[in-house]
Amino acid sequence: MKVLLLGSGGREHAFAWKFVQSEKLEKLYVAPGNAGTAAIAENIDINPNDFAKIKDFVLEKGINMVVVGPEDPLVNGIHDFFLADEAIKSIPVIGPEKLGAQLEGSKDFSKEFMFRHDIPTAKYKSITSENLEEGFTFLESLKAPYVLKADGLAAGKGVLIISDLNEAKQSLKEMIEGMFGDASSTVVIEEFLAGIELSVFVLTDGKNYKTLAEAKDYKRIGLGDTGLNTGGMGAISPVPFATADFMQKVEDRVIVPTIEGLQKDNIPYKGFIFIGLMNIGGDPYVIEYNVRMGDPETEVIIPRIKSDLLELMEAVSKQELDKVHFEMDDRTVTTVMLVAGGYPEAYEKGKAITKLDEVEGSIVFHAGTSFSGDDIVTNGGRVISVSSYGDTMQSALDKSFKNAELINFEGKYYRKDIGFDLK
Ligand code: AMP
Repeated sequence: MKVLLLGSGGREHAFAWKFVQSEKLEKLYVAPGNAGTAAIAENIDINPNDFAKIKDFVLEKGINMVVVGPEDPLVNGIHDFFLADEAIKSIPVIGPEKLGAQLEGSKDFSKEFMFRHDIPTAKYKSITSENLEEGFTFLESLKAPYVLKADGLAAGKGVLIISDLNEAKQSLKEMIEGMFGDASSTVVIEEFLAGIELSVFVLTDGKNYKTLAEAKDYKRIGLGDTGLNTGGMGAISPVPFATADFMQKVEDRVIVPTIEGLQKDNIPYKGFIFIGLMNIGGDPYVIEYNVRMGDPETEVIIPRIKSDLLELMEAVSKQELDKVHFEMDDRTVTTVMLVAGGYPEAYEKGKAITKLDEVEGSIVFHAGTSFSGDDIVTNGGRVISVSSYGDTMQSALDKSFKNAELINFEGKYYRKDIGFDLK
């Protein structure tokens, strides 16, 4: 197979790392990729949202499958674009069509979906400038803290959690007036769920599914989960508190009704579903769906997949996921993210990354990296994800931390307490 993978993060390097282990792979292109994917595949300078250029490339190179890493091209309808064009409609795209991508692209759509299919989630109300007063009344009916979510994609920044009622009312008004542009012209107000968060990852062909595994990520920049939110500073899979009993509840109450709900609503779906969950006293509640894998969760989930991922994806495209063998590694995988000094606020790029060739016992997934001449240099806030296997969480963490300390670039920062709450 000739595969085109869209994206440029640690997630995409992890996909590429797995694809090149497949006997089915003839050639892998990554658009636009990073310095890590350049070492194992061919990077091409195409923006994942430039569908016309992607079409030309796919036809020129005889691509047999397109795998979409990030959410934007999905929400923008890349899968529909392929299906609507005779020349490329037979080339499978892994990732849902625009309608299914609304599970991530619109919080209001996903809440309606969950309520329609009795999937446990926080109660909510969707508010626009038309019914602002109802929003104030709903806020008054809730207990603090108050959760306000921009309906549309806001680069992971569209959720406010506010402890004061009057402040929440003020922020609701400001969101609707454009705090996050069009993304917050509708705001979803939610009841606050108090519990421990984790995510579960599912691959589906719209009819059959495989539950890959659960993972926990660490979003805050500072020790002990403090400070600003980031794209993610580390992750662990499996999650010790996700017992067999809890995971069974997730399957029965969330995964099965989600897959059946997609079918009942005639929403075609071929791709990954990332289910953000809150564990409240042993019961799962859905916080959100994402329509692609998470980053850095991919860097701990993919290394645990023992099966051939391209074979699984081929089966997804043919709606034959029930026919393929699927196995996960029982070991724990941890990842620790090295970020640029200053991130998630202003940071510098172009710092030389050294000692990558001295890493032992971990897999190095590149995120924001590129080349400057022969040097590998930083090219983003999140730079390198250091993933390690272990028979225990601690032994995996020890390796990730050791190599996180070793790899160097000016301003490097990482959280030395990934997994602190699971010990
Ligand atoms: P979301 O973009 O919907 O995942 O929200 C971002 C983050 O806000 C989540 O990962 C949670 O930590 C938090 N969050 C979202 N919704 C709720 C809720 N209803 N109750 C408590 N925390 C929430």
